[in-house]
Amino acid sequence: MFRITHKDKNTNARVGLLETPHGVVETPEFMPVGTQATVKALSSEELKYCNAQIILGNTYHLYLRPGMEIIRNAGGLHKFMSWNRAILTDSGGFQIFSLTALMKVKEEGVEFNSHVDGSRHFLTPEIVVKLQHELGSDIMMPLDECLHYPSTKDKAEQSLGLTNRWAKRSKEEFARVVLDSPPEELLAGRSNNILRASERSERVEKLLFGIVQGSTYPDLRKRAAEELVSIGFDGYSIGGLSVGEPKELMFEMMESAIKYLPEDKPRYTMGVGMPHDFFNAIEMGVDMFDCVVPTRNARNGAAYTNEGRLIIRNGEYSKDLRPLSENCDCIVCKNYSRSYIRHLFNTEEILGLRLTSLHNVYFYVNLLDRIRKAIREDRFVELKKEFEGRIF
Ligand SMILES: [Zn+2]
Repeated sequence: MFRITHKDKNTNARVGLLETPHGVVETPEFMPVGTQATVKALSSEELKYCNAQIILGNTYHLYLRPGMEIIRNAGGLHKFMSWNRAILTDSGGFQIFSLTALMKVKEEGVEFNSHVDGSRHFLTPEIVVKLQHELGSDIMMPLDECLHYPSTKDKAEQSLGLTNRWAKRSKEEFARVVLDSPPEELLAGRSNNILRASERSERVEKLLFGIVQGSTYPDLRKRAAEELVSIGFDGYSIGGLSVGEPKELMFEMMESAIKYLPEDKPRYTMGVGMPHDFFNAIEMGVDMFDCVVPTRNARNGAAYTNEGRLIIRNGEYSKDLRPLSENCDCIVCKNYSRSYIRHLFNTEEILGLRLTSLHNVYFYVNLLDRIRKAIREDRFVELKKEFEGRIF
């Protein structure tokens, strides 16, 4: 399902192809975040225009609103939001541990009050796999316990044990519910529920990744990675990063995990996504990223460009007729000036944040495309140098 097509001669950067039921994703790739079945302010057509190959959805949010019945009625998340490319869903662990009230963690699962209406819910690793299967997710994440930064080593160790036991149960449930129960339309008219061997080998299966936790302790990161690899997943996420720890520590933890992950599986650093982070992580061999930065900051009037971050409300742009980014070929930069977009922000017109969101997602997705091209040509180090000193 994952094939590395080129390795950079000078670093651990690599270019690969990840096969999903909704198309092949070329890596390294940035995944725009569509928590509530929408990448904020952008339509699915606009995301395609930006060349996004895969987006992120969130199981916790979608399970609460609109709820599974409404998504089932629409025929799954892809149809519901009119997106026919790949979707990765986060298990919701992070949201349960950061947004909810009266949370109780047990061996069986986690009980919590919804942040929307206070209603009581109980989710287990098995339920979370089923929910993602029903959403129609192409790449699923197991339920994990997410710790705040900083955490004591005792707490981190205990939590890691639980997360990995949950990961094992998720894998078992995934094998039972996803791999052994083919879609009904394939089985129509058959006396048994079994796919022929040829059908099974031709089918592109959904994927389940493991999540490496372990807080800020290198030996726990090592243990987390080794245990997950012995269970065996289609790819490995590195979780619990970018939660307030210093950058150096974040990269140290990334490295401590990657060392113990198999070369031939995709690696995904969750929630990491400033332009400099891409270069530093890809250099270590990371393949997938997601981050709310390009869309969240766009709504506050920050545009990302090759020269760094541009704050559109600044007075200096009031008569600036240049595009947001001078060498960007997106429709925003082809048609609108900084002066006009600044005016839209100052008058609180919603078009302003739509235009900056569109440009930023285009810039991010395009940046990863440029990075892939540079790796293929063994120019990754040069491209990284071009961005040095830029302030994002
Ligand atoms: Zn642009």
